[in-house]
Amino acid sequence: MTTGYCVKCRAKREMQGAKPSVVGNGRPAVRGTCGTCGTRMFRMGRG
Ligand SMILES: [Zn+2]
Repeated sequence: MTTGYCVKCRAKREMQGAKPSVVGNGRPAVRGTCGTCGTRMFRMGRG
């Protein structure tokens, strides 16, 4: 599973619907939503 930091929960949460993405400078990132509150999450790096 993929985890990320949720700013709303202020804690690490499981990321739902995680999808690989790339940010402006070409670095890999992951986008998804918080499995607890549904807030959008963003994490740098893969996985
Ligand atoms: Zn959350």
